[in-house]
Amino acid sequence: MPRYLPLFALLVLLPLASCDDTTSPPADASVEAGPAPDQALAQIDSVMLREHIAVLAADEFEGRGTGTPGEEKTIAYIREQMEAAGLVGAMPDGSFFQPVPLLGSTPTDVGTLTFTPADGDPVALDFVDDYIASTDLDATEASINGPLVFVGYGISNPGYDWDDYKDMDVTGKVLVSFVNDPPATEDEPNLFQADTLTYNGRWTYKYEEARRRGAAGMLLIHTGPMAGYPFTVLSAGARGEQIQLATPPENPLQLKGWIPQPVAEQLAEMSGTTLAAWMAEATTRDFQPRELPVTADLTMTFETRTFEGTNVLGKIEGTSHPDEVVLYTAHHDHLGIDREREAAGEDGIYNGAVDNASGVGMMLELAEAFNATESPARTVMFATLSAEESGLLGAGYLAENFPVSLANVIANVNVDSGNLNGPTDDIVGIGAERSEMLGLLRTAAAGEGMTVTPDNQPNQGLFFRSDQLAFARGGVPALFLNTGTQFRGQPADYAAQIKAAYRATSYHQPSDELRDDMLFGGIVQQTRVAFRLGHAIANSTVRPAWNPSEAFAETRRLSEQETGM
Ligand SMILES: [Zn+2]
Repeated sequence: MPRYLPLFALLVLLPLASCDDTTSPPADASVEAGPAPDQALAQIDSVMLREHIAVLAADEFEGRGTGTPGEEKTIAYIREQMEAAGLVGAMPDGSFFQPVPLLGSTPTDVGTLTFTPADGDPVALDFVDDYIASTDLDATEASINGPLVFVGYGISNPGYDWDDYKDMDVTGKVLVSFVNDPPATEDEPNLFQADTLTYNGRWTYKYEEARRRGAAGMLLIHTGPMAGYPFTVLSAGARGEQIQLATPPENPLQLKGWIPQPVAEQLAEMSGTTLAAWMAEATTRDFQPRELPVTADLTMTFETRTFEGTNVLGKIEGTSHPDEVVLYTAHHDHLGIDREREAAGEDGIYNGAVDNASGVGMMLELAEAFNATESPARTVMFATLSAEESGLLGAGYLAENFPVSLANVIANVNVDSGNLNGPTDDIVGIGAERSEMLGLLRTAAAGEGMTVTPDNQPNQGLFFRSDQLAFARGGVPALFLNTGTQFRGQPADYAAQIKAAYRATSYHQPSDELRDDMLFGGIVQQTRVAFRLGHAIANSTVRPAWNPSEAFAETRRLSEQETGM
């Protein structure tokens, strides 16, 4: 999964409309295809899974940093394995490789953000401690200068009859916004899906809305409880290179960034109120956006470079509906090498065995399995994606530049960080409950004697944090296959224990390495379920649909219409 970097921009436009009604369960999409063939499932092999992880997570792959020699080795290995599994290149010219043009911007002068109140002395803030910022521009300088405009939660969503912008023209303004979405109320217990984080709550959405309205910049207010992680998580990499797609988004923001709670409190005070009062008023529909009696000034300079990551795309062509695609995805990048750690004599290689050599291994075993049985009716595509850790960039680029219309991509199954802790009785399908994928996943899991557990941390917004988001935003029903909650022969809290231990010791650390005590029973189960799911969809005429209340449903409708369906 990616870091919580606030610094990326996906290009696919999400429609504004979304309404809330997740209480009605999706129709159960049943599939007429017969059971998954045993000879295919038998191909899914723990020894080969371990071997793939051992290769990809080896030190010589240098942490698989995007655009590095480590990525070159990675994509060469994946392509060789895909070819051995009988796949052909899925690019229009038959190639396996899709170059992903990227732009890197490294701050050379972080400047000084200054708040100047109408009646009082300017306050100069410190980069990293008091704010972080980056730019959407492909430019060596970016600046903001002007009055701040407070926009509450920065959400405009007719589905909830919610509009924090009202009629205000914010063209060229620098906006200040909370992250997250407004809390549910007694009268509206399902407002913004209650405790489930909606896409309107994600910081990426706040920036997108600001761009749509032509703002010059945006500062997000970070509070620990609202963001779910400390400010230091954001600020840690802020002085380093920020990576985005080479083509900046439409209406790029000059500068976008975050301020921590104490600075937000200071800003509210300069505006003659308190942060608590801002929070209270922002939770109502009556909220009025307004210009604050405070101007903000910041100029930053950057050194830029353009370079390329590479997505790897293989496929098995469908026999009767080759134009329709079932898409498996797994990101192959990780964090590369930490040169500072290395210079200090420590292990600096981010091997990323779990995140996400494991998912790539699953993908290669899936390819083997499909190769061992009759070709499916629909095309099955296997994509390993670049630059996920930099903000789902490889996925975003693929979604924008897909070999066929996204309306013909029937479903996306994403795997990221497989279960190396042993077999479970259940499997988690993040986002499955948002579409008819839930019924399909249940059938696939039942084939392995497993049940499906809904997203058990809905407030974390995991659906928005791995590559499936890019395809969902393009309208493709998607899910993110995750580790179950009930480990066989273990106490009830075992899943929570291992998750906490992983977060504390290995997640995005050089210590995410292949270990002898890792157990492959769980990842084999996950791969078998993923096979059953994709195989069933690929041999049916089913087109799983989003729940009508999902914002992505409207995108799907529009893309199907455009394609003449
Ligand atoms: Zn990952």
